[in-house]
Parts: sequence; structure tokens; C-alpha cells
Amino acid sequence: MAKHQFQTEVGQLLHLMTHSLYSNKEIFVRELVSNASDAIDKLNYLRLTDEKLKDSFASWKGEINISFDEKDKSLTIIDNGIGMNEEDMINSIGTIAKSGTKSFVEALTGDAKKDSNLIGQFGVGFYSVFMVADKVDVISKKAGEEVAYKWSSDGSGEFDLAPCTKESAGTVIYIKLKDEEAGEFASKYRIKNIVGKYSNHIAYPIFLNYDEEVSETLSEEDEKAGKTPEKKTERKHEQINEATALWTQPKAKLKDEDYNNFYKSISQDSSDPMLTIHTKTEGVNEYITLFYIPQIAPMDMYRADYQSGIKLYVKRVFITDDDKELLPTYLRFVRGIIDSEDLPLNVSREILQENRILANIKQSSVKKILSEIKKLSKDEEKYSKFIEQYNRALKEGVYQDYTNKEAILELLRYKSTKTEDKKLTSLEDYKNRANSEQKAIYYIVGENEKVLRNSPLLESYNKNDIEVLILDDKEIDEIITPAIGAFKEWEFKDITTCEAPKVEINEEEKKEVEEKFKDIVSKIKEKLNDDVKDVKITNRLSESASCITKDSQDAQMAAMAHMFRSMGQ
Ligand code: ADP
Ligand code: MG
Repeated sequence: MAKHQFQTEVGQLLHLMTHSLYSNKEIFVRELVSNASDAIDKLNYLRLTDEKLKDSFASWKGEINISFDEKDKSLTIIDNGIGMNEEDMINSIGTIAKSGTKSFVEALTGDAKKDSNLIGQFGVGFYSVFMVADKVDVISKKAGEEVAYKWSSDGSGEFDLAPCTKESAGTVIYIKLKDEEAGEFASKYRIKNIVGKYSNHIAYPIFLNYDEEVSETLSEEDEKAGKTPEKKTERKHEQINEATALWTQPKAKLKDEDYNNFYKSISQDSSDPMLTIHTKTEGVNEYITLFYIPQIAPMDMYRADYQSGIKLYVKRVFITDDDKELLPTYLRFVRGIIDSEDLPLNVSREILQENRILANIKQSSVKKILSEIKKLSKDEEKYSKFIEQYNRALKEGVYQDYTNKEAILELLRYKSTKTEDKKLTSLEDYKNRANSEQKAIYYIVGENEKVLRNSPLLESYNKNDIEVLILDDKEIDEIITPAIGAFKEWEFKDITTCEAPKVEINEEEKKEVEEKFKDIVSKIKEKLNDDVKDVKITNRLSESASCITKDSQDAQMAAMAHMFRSMGQ
């Protein structure tokens, strides 16, 4: 038997789990069941596409079994899914391979109370079992392989790993519960209740196996003879979930709670979603989509190695959750499911990219999501929460998604010279406020809102009562805004480079002024030397004596490089 050290971050996480004050311990069942369901999904796909597995799993049916021992205070969760070999175990439940978990650990503060709130916000999967376990054994055999392995740990610094025997493919997770704090989970009612709550619509049957004392039924004669019925124990094998993929259910049958619990079972998030969008499309293409927008943007949203939040199914068979092309990058915060009736069941992940049916689904999904966000925007309070999380991602969309540019622009919100107190404006409202002569949307870009608001360049605009957008997300605004072109025929104009409004230029007077200040301008130029490109007389200012402007092209190139990096491209 070989001892292995957990990677440092796992160690930290486990320490937190075992000492967690987190009250919602029951979620470990949801996490383990969702892993079991994922593992069954994977085998279900492989047996349809992998020649080597086709025959041996021809009549296979995925299922999850749970049993418990009340005296021993233990719980066992068994699936017949893909299983893990030695390497999988080391990689998946010994190190941090997932960016999500890593960001979670990075976000930890060391303050126990704050950190347990974090667990609440970001489900952390398998390791949550150590909230309730003294010891955990994972016995697993990978489909198509010979040797099984046993992984054991008490959640302190290390785990044991050794070959063992196991008949069929799949995984057994044996949990020795903490006697006092978690013994309650070794109970029929508790497990039924938790599974009903979180895993009712997992696509596979979940069975609870338990002993029940039953009295024999006496025949009439025996009863008359006054015989007492004998007691015996019977082994029960009871299905405790509905096992209908939630997204296939009619909307009318589903309650908010059903949707929310299903979201939690697929998303690693323990909070309810901000928005749920369930659509069934019939006709030439038949498919169902169920999309969720999280209340808090996923932690890995601005990492190049972010994980896709969309699972693709074909006729209820899971195909992949690792295709970032299913939705455009700027909607990478959306979680959910696409289930197509028309794709071939053995579609390989590689050819998905060029698939017309999928491109179609993607296109209408984007339209649907954008239109639901627009509906949300009617509720100012709710929408401000959305904007706080996703305004920036949507801005990328203006650049990436030409077809939906107008729709996205309607959703964006901006700071401006006519908003304050963190209030933002839509472009539509900007237009409506403008005077009848104005035909453009003016903006200024920079890093710091306060500096921008004090810019001397704003003087002539304020004087003429022209609203200017204050764009202080420089990294992205600098490149995206010039690329917008126009919103409903109103061109975007950067006030550092465009002509100032309503200033009548008298050419003669201009020459006169230039002549008058010629010497001083050349002296300033000399003094500043290479620090500036040029020094010029301007008619943009009305109060201040001078201001600095920029050369838009250079800045734009630098910003573009920066932005692509942050979008993971
Ligand atoms: P996630 O499910 O988000 O990937 P988890 O911490 O829940 O994160 O699980 C980590 C990994 O461990 C899974 O991605 C999977 O590779 C592996 N794993 C966990 N449980 C099982 C299981 N029952 N069968 C097969 N693999 C599993
Ligand atoms: Mg998981």
C-alpha cells in the first residue's frame, strides 16, 4: 500500500472541511450523487462510441445505490459508471485539477466564518464528504480495465492507495460517519429526504437499500388459533427519486424549487440562480434547453482555463460538458443543458464544432438568453445585480457577436456625467435625455472614475449640457467602444479625439491666437521633449489652461492585446 500526500491546496481545503462551521452538511449527498450521475453519463456515452466497450456494456443500465448502517454509523454510495483507475484517483481526488477548486482555495481568507460562507457559495464537490466523515474509502474500477483500486483517507494530510478486487466497473464510496455530529445521516428518512430535495431529477434511478422488520401475515386459521405473527427482516430495494431528467418535464409541472435544486446539482453553486430559462423547441430542429444565470459570476470567469457551464445531451444521453463552443465566450457565465433530438447519438466531440444543427441551436439559444435578460432589465433592482456581475462580459459580446450587437448594446449600462451614486444609464436613456441637435454618443475612457469626472475635457460638454459616458473599465472599454460604431445610428465619439461640440471656429481668429502663442508652445514642446507627441493650441477648453489628450490608435492596440488575454484567447 502506498501513502500519498495531498497537494497543499487540497490539504487546506480538507482542513477547512473537517473543521467547518458550515451548517448545511447534508449537501455532501448531493455532491456524491452528482458525481455518480456524471460517471454514469460518461460510461453511457462511451458504450455508444467506443468499440471496445460496446459489447460488454450492451445491456448495461446506469443506477445508483445507497445503503447505510445505523449501528455502525456508516453510509455507502455505489454507482456503475465509468470508474477511476489509479491515475484518475491521484489526479481527481488527490490533487486540484480543476480551476474552480483552485480559485476557491485562492479566495479563502483564513477566517473560519467567512470561509464557510464561501463553501456555501461554491460547492466543492467530492471533498465536502469530509464535513461528515471520520474516514472515507473509495473503491473503484474503470470500465474496460482489469485492476480495481482502493483510496482511503481520514481527511488529514494524506491518502492510501492500493490495488484491490472489485467485480464490475464503477465506484463504491464507503463513509464512516462522525459519530456524534453526523450519525444522523445513517437513516432511511434522512437520506430519502435529502435525495428527494436535491437529486429527484437526476436522470438515473437512485435506490435505497435497507432492512425492514415485517410481521408475517397470518392465515385466517392461524389467526383464529391465536398464533402471534413472526417477525422477520426483509431487505428492501426502493427507488427514491423520480429519475426523469428535469429538463424533459413540462414547465407547468415544475416548481421554482425543482429548478433551483436541479441547478445546484449541476453547477457547484449552493445559491439559487438569478435567472432560469427553460425552452422546448419543436419543428425542423427539436431540442430542449435549460439555462441558468448564477447570482454571482463564476469564479473562473476571467481565467483563460475557465470551465464551460453547459452540458450537451443527445436524446437524454450525455455527450460532453467540455465544449466551450456551445455558447459564445461572452456568455460563459451561463450554466445549463442543451438536449438535442436530431444529432446522431454517436456524434463525436470533435465533429461537434462544424455541426449545422448545433450552430442553429446556439444561435437561437443566444437570442433567447439575451431576450430574457432584457425582460429582467425591466426590474431596476434585480437588473442592477445582474449588471454588477455581468456588464463586463456582455461588453465583450459587442465585439464578438456582430449579429446581436444591437440587442447587447441595449443591455449594457454606463456611468455618465448625468448619473451619480453608482447609478448607471442605458444608451436608450442617454439618447432620450439628449437635446434635439445631438446626434452622437460622447464618452471618455480611463482608469479612474474620479480623474475622468474631473477632466478639463468635460468642460465644454457640461457647458453645452451634453452628457458624456464615463468609461472607467479601461482595459475593455478602450478597445470595445471605438469598435461599436453606432447605437441606433448614433455614433460613439471619444471626446479626447473628436471635435468639441458647438464651437464656432473663426479661422482668422484661430491663426491670430496660434501666432500669439507660437513661442510658448515651442518652449513647452522643447521642455517635454519625447514625453509627448505634440503640443497644440485647442478650442476644447473653456475654464482650464491646458489638458493632456492621447493618441487613440496606440492606446487601442495595447488595450486590445490586454483584453484578448483576459478573455482567455
Ligand atoms: P467535479 O464533479 O466538479 O469534477 P468533484 O470534486 O465532485 O468535482 O469530483 C472530482 C473528480 O473526481 C470528478 O471530476 C471525477 O473525475 C472524479 N470522481 C468523483 N466521484 C467519482 C465517481 N463516483 N466515479 C468516477 N469518478 C469520480
Ligand atoms: Mg462533483
